[in-house]
Amino acid sequence: MGECRSCRIIYTGTVQGVGFRPYVYNLARSLGLSGAVGNTGEGVLVELEGEAERVNKFIREMEFNHPALARINKFDIIPAPQRGFKGFTIMPSEGLPKGVSVVPPDAALCSQCREETLSRRDRRYLYPFTNCTNCGPRFTISARLPYDRVNTTMEVFSMCPECALEYNNPQDRRYHAQPVACPVCGPQVWLTDGLGNRLEGLWASECGRLLNEGAILAVKGLGGFHLVCDAFQGEAIIKLRKKKRRPAKPLAVMCRDMDTVREHCMVTPREEELLQSHHAPIVLLSRNGRNSLPGELAPGMDTLGVMLPYTPMHLVLLNSSAPVLVMTSGNSSGLPLVIDNQRAYAELGGIADFFLMHNREILNRCDDSVVAVHSGGEHFFRRSRGYVPTPVEVPFREGPVVLGSGGEMKNTFCILKDGNAYLSQYIGDISLLEGQEAYISSFENYCRLLGINPEVVALDAHPDYHVAGLTSSVQGRRFNVQHHHAHMAACMAENGIDRPVIGLILDGTGYGLDGNIWGFEVLTGDYVNFTRASHLDYLPLPGGERAVKNPWVCAAATLIHFLGDSGYQSARSLFPDKSPEIATIKKMMKENINCPPASSCGRLFDSVAAMLGICMVNTYDGQAAIELGDMVNKEWGHTISGKGTHLYRKPGSGVGGMSPIGNGSGVGGMSPIGEGLAINPYRYTINGDVIDPACMFEAILKDLQSGIPVSAIARRFHDTVAAMAVEGAVKARKEKVINSVVLSGGCWHNKYLFETTLQLLQSKGFDVHYHRLVPPGDGGISLGQAVVGYKRWKNCSSTVM
Ligand SMILES: [Zn+2]
Ligand SMILES: [Zn+2]
Repeated sequence: MGECRSCRIIYTGTVQGVGFRPYVYNLARSLGLSGAVGNTGEGVLVELEGEAERVNKFIREMEFNHPALARINKFDIIPAPQRGFKGFTIMPSEGLPKGVSVVPPDAALCSQCREETLSRRDRRYLYPFTNCTNCGPRFTISARLPYDRVNTTMEVFSMCPECALEYNNPQDRRYHAQPVACPVCGPQVWLTDGLGNRLEGLWASECGRLLNEGAILAVKGLGGFHLVCDAFQGEAIIKLRKKKRRPAKPLAVMCRDMDTVREHCMVTPREEELLQSHHAPIVLLSRNGRNSLPGELAPGMDTLGVMLPYTPMHLVLLNSSAPVLVMTSGNSSGLPLVIDNQRAYAELGGIADFFLMHNREILNRCDDSVVAVHSGGEHFFRRSRGYVPTPVEVPFREGPVVLGSGGEMKNTFCILKDGNAYLSQYIGDISLLEGQEAYISSFENYCRLLGINPEVVALDAHPDYHVAGLTSSVQGRRFNVQHHHAHMAACMAENGIDRPVIGLILDGTGYGLDGNIWGFEVLTGDYVNFTRASHLDYLPLPGGERAVKNPWVCAAATLIHFLGDSGYQSARSLFPDKSPEIATIKKMMKENINCPPASSCGRLFDSVAAMLGICMVNTYDGQAAIELGDMVNKEWGHTISGKGTHLYRKPGSGVGGMSPIGNGSGVGGMSPIGEGLAINPYRYTINGDVIDPACMFEAILKDLQSGIPVSAIARRFHDTVAAMAVEGAVKARKEKVINSVVLSGGCWHNKYLFETTLQLLQSKGFDVHYHRLVPPGDGGISLGQAVVGYKRWKNCSSTVM
């Protein structure tokens, strides 16, 4: 026998409630090591004794192979005296200090549970709540710490002897799987009509039959209800849209398996990996030419939000019905997701024909996460189910617990403690009472689950946002954080940057320091302070919010403001049926009646989308910008190779070419860059710190008149926005000698705009950072607010910005 070694190893990260201890137990025993493993306040403690070579093998093995849901952030090895352990044991987690361990996120059905659910011989055949240590509900069913069955909504189901055996056997896959259940002892599913009358027969085949007949089902899932219909039936989709009052917003679908996904969409290996990951988000994919799904799913759009069945219930449902089902959030437009059986009848009764219910209570509402692959990596549209409450690590340790309270739309909040930023699940719109209730209950649950209470509150500077009132119960210092500064700080924080940066913040709406609406900002600064280096020229928005809802109003205002009388005439000829309104708009602008000025990139997109006839009215937030972006993304893509990025025309796309398009409308002087990346912007001017887009609008009108295809104009518009942002960065670099750039704000969801700008910046030698962990839109600002609040508190600064 070789030399002996004894040591203690502390693993930190997501290591509790994910089958870490049994994994260690089995590994140590297989290597013939003695010792013990247990949960501690910090993480998991392993005590090891045995032959040095085998101990080393254990350490190596743990580094590269660990349980599917575990994430080791750090491990420390401390030499320890020999204690003469007999064998290897798992220590019980009693006496665990309160409030340190973190409940893991919900995890999608694992392959082994999937097999069992589909195997006739298994005792869990077709059981909709099959789970194990590697999969199943976590966050959504947890009430308190520590993460134990009694603290979850599984408390009311007592385990049958067979489940108890599995639960107590360290060599079983279900050892300490808190939600373990089977048909004998666990939750059950039933199907009812709209009045709550139960339907006879097997739920799965009945659902399949009803969906096939064109019915809309409300299906209770993991984090809330979905509204479900057959994705191949255009009429069912139209009925759903009408009842949900959602005329155009794309509907997500669930596909039976990967083969079904490939039948309808183009899928890259990275996208496939995301779809099949235990996070199981909705992934935005491009449809392929062969797909037979109706256009009603996402009118006018090339992309489709796709997910795979992530619970056994979804798996069984999809195996008994059409291979693709519409699976959209179960709520009335603008309200929070329904999670409660009784409320489902009340709120969804007017939409759904039948209800698929179950009796496992959902404690934490959690919408599906939405992700796309941009520039080869994850890009979040919504970070929620499957990711929350895993924290984002930031480089700030000692100090107070800070609450970043989030924005008004797409709200999330964020609690920062000891270098961990715990972003909440998606809360959404908090302008209505229901959203405010959801905010307060989620906040209370979150504090209880993390076992912490904030001592500092960071808030958006907007005087009308509801977060100020909703967080009034939190005692402690309060800091106001400017909206786009929060965006910038969020991107810095998730990238671990603590030095001055240039922030290219392209966004919809945020309250500016001058009381105006901002949203196309070149900022410079750090976490504490910032300056506005340059920005898009202000546009008066006639009627304020009304202009935001009506892109054609933005377009008319834009043309009148930047091009004067000729612009007014152009607006009238572009929107002939709006002539009287356009006259009123002109009058409002001339007399400055209710025309708040906005320097917003979102409004720039709205204006151009309306001018090109793509979208006149936003029926959902950001519709015009999304449809305009989709038109360009449909036709143009970037491939990434070792040498850089290559811009290419997608096969089968209509018009245009790499050569300059249009005549006489001035080219901005950008030559092809890198491996074939050519952009072709319209002309614009920069006067001092103001970016003036007037020439661009003139050129767009000219191109429209000469019959240049709309998609070609749309692409040149995107190129112009990229060029404006890059020129703003170049100017700021010259003035402030800063080379790091962060990209944040909702407009960076636009893939073509993002990838083009990224390449241009990199080709100019900038050190560019962007979002990979939180959304660039308002779902991410709570992180920025929290770190700004933290830094201001640290600096004992009383500056209110
Ligand atoms: Zn499993
Ligand atoms: Zn059982």
